[in-house]
Amino acid sequence: MSTRSERKRRAARRVFPGFPVERPPFDSPQDVYDYLNGVGEYKAPAGRIVCLLCGKTYRKLGTHLLRIHGVEVDEYRERYGLPWTVGVASPDCRERYSKATRKRMEEGWEPGCDADEWAERVAASSHRPRAPYREHMACGPLPEPVRISDDVWDEFLRRVASGRTPGEVLKDADMPVYSCLYSKRKSDSGFAARYDKTVDDLPFSVQARGEMLGDRFKEAARALRDQGKLYREIADELGVTTMTVFRHLDDRQPTSVNTKSEH
Ligand SMILES: [Zn+2]
Repeated sequence: MSTRSERKRRAARRVFPGFPVERPPFDSPQDVYDYLNGVGEYKAPAGRIVCLLCGKTYRKLGTHLLRIHGVEVDEYRERYGLPWTVGVASPDCRERYSKATRKRMEEGWEPGCDADEWAERVAASSHRPRAPYREHMACGPLPEPVRISDDVWDEFLRRVASGRTPGEVLKDADMPVYSCLYSKRKSDSGFAARYDKTVDDLPFSVQARGEMLGDRFKEAARALRDQGKLYREIADELGVTTMTVFRHLDDRQPTSVNTKSEH
């Protein structure tokens, strides 16, 4: 005996082969945007986005994640390294929401609580607590945090130093996932310093690939500009695109040293 609603529930809990995706599959901001825009490796039909836990597509993932996988949307963002500030929804869905929000604000929208409470909620939103997993998670529990030996971290830094971005190295099957690197850097200042130095010493072309150009690049580009070189010439000399030089020499822009560390 299987009622219609049971069949529907079972279908909702089906997981496609290759899912859930176990490690953050994105190693550049471009990959993340491709995913959120439904193109690239996790291509979705127009107006939809792929759920990385089961492989099905939805217009927006929020309610699906909670109801089917028992995962809060922030938990999902953290697991896959997605930005906190972008809705996990298809582009036209996001567009619709932001239009609606803009419209409400133009029409004199006010928060449904007093100013102090609102300020508190905004302040708390960047470190919302993790939601505990529900008992019945269709995709099985997430991996427990594992203590990763120092040998692994040494090897990680060695591979980065050989001229790869941290994101590229983390994709190696024997390397930890992104969230492990994040916690390691937070909890071990010695490692964090070695990591920063390793990244800082990378060739500019590699840093550019990982969106992690820092002050050393700015200084080098400024010095060349002061010699009267064109952006195109500076780009050739430093091994990056002209647009990269332009972005980093544009003094109106805030310095963005390592966008990945701001999660
Ligand atoms: Zn799903």
